[in-house]
Amino acid sequence: MHHLNALHQVSLSLDHLTIAGFSISGLATYIQVPELDVCFDLGECPLSSLSINHVFLTHAHGDHARCLPRHWQLRRMVGNERPAAYFLPEVIRTGCAGWIRAEAAFEGVPEEGVETPAFHGLAGDASLVALPYRKDLRVRAFPVHHSVPSLGYTILAHKKKLKPEYRELPGAEIARLRKSGTEVQVDVDDPLLTFIGDCTGATLLEQDHIWASPIVILEATFLDETEQALAVAKAHTHVLEIAAALDALGDRVACRHIVLKHFSMKYTREQVFELVARHIPERWRERVKVFL
Ligand SMILES: [Zn+2]
Ligand SMILES: [Zn+2]
Repeated sequence: MHHLNALHQVSLSLDHLTIAGFSISGLATYIQVPELDVCFDLGECPLSSLSINHVFLTHAHGDHARCLPRHWQLRRMVGNERPAAYFLPEVIRTGCAGWIRAEAAFEGVPEEGVETPAFHGLAGDASLVALPYRKDLRVRAFPVHHSVPSLGYTILAHKKKLKPEYRELPGAEIARLRKSGTEVQVDVDDPLLTFIGDCTGATLLEQDHIWASPIVILEATFLDETEQALAVAKAHTHVLEIAAALDALGDRVACRHIVLKHFSMKYTREQVFELVARHIPERWRERVKVFL
């Protein structure tokens, strides 16, 4: 039952990024990407997450959110005075702050002594938002369908590039244009990674921009072919819906890695690998990684 221990981290090395953490439905989900200084969800708070400066909460369910206050408190306890940036759906921002205050009151902290983090509430309107501690990165939040309000997140590399019409010009000419006040550069944001916490299978086609990210991290709570109606009823994804989405999109799937996580705890480790291999068509199998 080693795979059900939320503090036993799984780690995948995908291209130049490390995907490290844990994700089992109902128990806990937290996924850290140290190279990008980001952590998605905090269903558990291992010490390794404390040095991460950007936290993205997908939704309020306990297995994804439970340890957000712990991250905030432990960071200060270990002497990291710099507050982490906590991003979350705007609709749960006030509730989250109230939850932290209630917890402090429960612990006997007088009301005037309670601090809460400066939350970044996101509307999920797909606008690009800067990361406070990483000038080279942006985040784009988008809505996903689940039983409660939930956001998916794409992290993008932010660069400035020469406008196409100036790319062939010699350096001296570009310098002259710049001096004269001409804007020779344009902002470019390239997707690096997309993370979705919990969502229905329908989301995978509705938000089809996710497939442009080199790495896509998805939930696949249900794996057994008899559980497709159950997946819909619980607002979770069935692996057969992922297979169907991939086949429907075909060549539009540009990602190199599709990481599956958040499996139901009823499956053994062996069953997860066996059922994923059985249900993902051969064309896609090499790209699909099991996070377990
Ligand atoms: Zn969950
Ligand atoms: Zn959930």
